[in-house]
Amino acid sequence: MFDRPGRFYRGNLHTHTTESDGSLSPQAVCQFYKDEGYDFLSITDHFLERFDYPLTDASPFDTPGFVTIRGAELHTDRMSAGELWHILANGLPADFAPPPEGETGPQLAQRAVEAGAFVSVAHPAWYSLTQSDIEALGPDLHAIETVNITSWDYNDRVESWHIYDVMLSQGHRYFCLATDDAHFHKGRFDFGLAWVWVKAASLDPEALLAALKAGDYYNSMGPRIHALEVRDEEVYVRCSPAERVMLTGHGSRAVYVNGRGIREATLSLERFAESAYVRVIVRDHHGRRAWSNPIWVDTL
Ligand SMILES: [Zn+2]
Ligand SMILES: [Zn+2]
Repeated sequence: MFDRPGRFYRGNLHTHTTESDGSLSPQAVCQFYKDEGYDFLSITDHFLERFDYPLTDASPFDTPGFVTIRGAELHTDRMSAGELWHILANGLPADFAPPPEGETGPQLAQRAVEAGAFVSVAHPAWYSLTQSDIEALGPDLHAIETVNITSWDYNDRVESWHIYDVMLSQGHRYFCLATDDAHFHKGRFDFGLAWVWVKAASLDPEALLAALKAGDYYNSMGPRIHALEVRDEEVYVRCSPAERVMLTGHGSRAVYVNGRGIREATLSLERFAESAYVRVIVRDHHGRRAWSNPIWVDTL
């Protein structure tokens, strides 16, 4: 994606407003993200009967240089830990129907995929999802939400990299996703902390959704990845100033370059011959990270 035409657009794909259990109106939430320099936002209110199944349309707040994508966090009975499914769907049509009686999580996720959405399983660590919960959602699931900021203040389970890497090692092919899951409650800090940089031909919802579904994005809490190229048996990375650039893959396999203010790194793929995938992590001197999507080794 780094070689293709277009540019990177910054967005948050998981956000709540007063249309469900968030504290700010859709207009105020859009204003916050505009002021923070985001290019796009998907409002994903809880698609539940008690909120009258909102599919919040924030397009009245679109401005030149800022677009919104209609979405929702979808729920139905029950994951193996006994709680409601939480399925993130970005790019839903306005007439997406509430789940009929008895619709399972996997059926609901599939219906969202067929309706054209970019679909992710939300916050596995926070809700103690098992691998079989995620597998039940099937191969059409696009991504696993591996960073979810709001869970920080609930049970400190912000990151779901463990289940993600285990599943990638077994051959599953999901993208990873970092989001705020912003609610803007008083005294909480779940906004403006984790986002995606999507490479798209233009800033419009259709182009952004197509790029998301193709995996043409990376995730960040700060650092930028300017270039990522596979050259022969090496991965070349150019980034904002970092203290460490890593490749990780199957088991504990990893290579890294460290130093002060690193702006580029070349990492050997030699140790990853038996790995289904590698992915790149860039960490700055504040400990903030950026995460690429996986590179599937058999496609190289
Ligand atoms: Zn949730
Ligand atoms: Zn949420």
